[in-house]
Amino acid sequence: LRAEVGIVGAGPAGLALANVLTRRGIDCVVVERASRARVEERQRAGLLEHRTVRWLHSQGLADRLLAEATRHGWCDFRCLGHTVRVDYGAYSGGHQHHVYPQQNLVRDLVAALELAGSPPLFSHSVRAVTDITSRRPRLECEGMEIECDYVVGCDGFRGISRAALPATGHRAHNRRYPYDWLTVLAEVDRPADGVRYAVHRSGFAGMMPRGPRVSRFYLQCPPDDAVEAWPRRRIVTELRTRLADGDPAGLPSIGALTEVRMLRMHSSVLAPLAHGRLLLAGDAAHVLTPSGAKGMNLAIADAAALAEALVARLRRRDAGPLAGYSTARLGDVRRVLGFSEWLLDLLHLPPEAAEPGRELTARLAGIRRLATPGPGAYRFAHRYVGSGVRE
Ligand code: FAD
Repeated sequence: LRAEVGIVGAGPAGLALANVLTRRGIDCVVVERASRARVEERQRAGLLEHRTVRWLHSQGLADRLLAEATRHGWCDFRCLGHTVRVDYGAYSGGHQHHVYPQQNLVRDLVAALELAGSPPLFSHSVRAVTDITSRRPRLECEGMEIECDYVVGCDGFRGISRAALPATGHRAHNRRYPYDWLTVLAEVDRPADGVRYAVHRSGFAGMMPRGPRVSRFYLQCPPDDAVEAWPRRRIVTELRTRLADGDPAGLPSIGALTEVRMLRMHSSVLAPLAHGRLLLAGDAAHVLTPSGAKGMNLAIADAAALAEALVARLRRRDAGPLAGYSTARLGDVRRVLGFSEWLLDLLHLPPEAAEPGRELTARLAGIRRLATPGPGAYRFAHRYVGSGVRE
């Protein structure tokens, strides 16, 4: 097989990129190891930033999203029995998140590729990416080889694209945080009407809207804790204790837990994001913790930049944007990582805080500053909603 661009992985990054390239007349193929059903069912992210939606809309990829997503422009912080509402929509000049589950976006992007006549090759694993410094890099898959002009690795953090990079010349900046998060998808009797972050003596807890009958919850746990240590009763009790913090009003009642997983809290940013004719995008290039809900948004921002760069290279013979891809994207990724880590610091008490009461009082003061008009609140609002405005 032959394609101008071979894409490994049909997550948000690979699918968004393939859609734009196909529409611009570039022959590309997406190879995905999982089945279509598996890819379209995987429930992960749910908050789309303003800039992500604006870009998807500009590419004609947001019709269903705009029709069905709900919008959110505020979040609540609960600390020491107080609820502080941060109206980041108002402080960012009216920008809002769209709540739209990742699996719905993935479904839309697969359907659009199908309509364009180039659906992903599902249930095909790429075993290796080879010849990346030649003019014809290859995807070696089960039972076939695909010769390409460029290969884009969108195969997530544990994919094989990273393995094709030479042992020297690339560095991963890794960080392990001193806690993990239990992540839970649960049926609820009514929708979470917004994001809630709880900073609590027992640890952080979070509640994210996902749909009318489903919410995602997070619970801070000790590092390397086991999911088996968290039976249903303990999860529900801890969520109530931390999220309500004395006032259960506003909390939905939690029904069946449809997914319970332990997230090892770490981040990793690889640099540079390209070698020869292999380019990396999305989680294959950088993973962040779910704090700030940035991962899927960064993956799509990579796809947007790469689409323009590949079109320039393949249709106008302009190699400049492709040469600048890694530097440009790493600047954005590091800014977002900085924000995400700042938020983690705000939400977690130090593991051995000598005076948790005093720490919590300081956190509450910091949270209140985010809700008080001024430069700090405006900066937070723009970064949180991903307005695309640089401070
Ligand atoms: P992925 O979605 O991981 O896709 C990679 C694809 O590559 C997969 O389909 C995989 O099967 C395929 N693949 C792997 N290896 C091969 C191979 N050898 N051959 C062929 N195919 C292969 N982000 C947000 O923005 N907001 C949120 O609220 C948010 N919440 C999250 C909650 C959880 C619990 C988790 C786990 C993540 C969350 N994220 C969130 C992160 C977000 O889901 C990821 O950042 C996003 O999926 C990255 O997209 P991607 O396309 O880079 O990679």
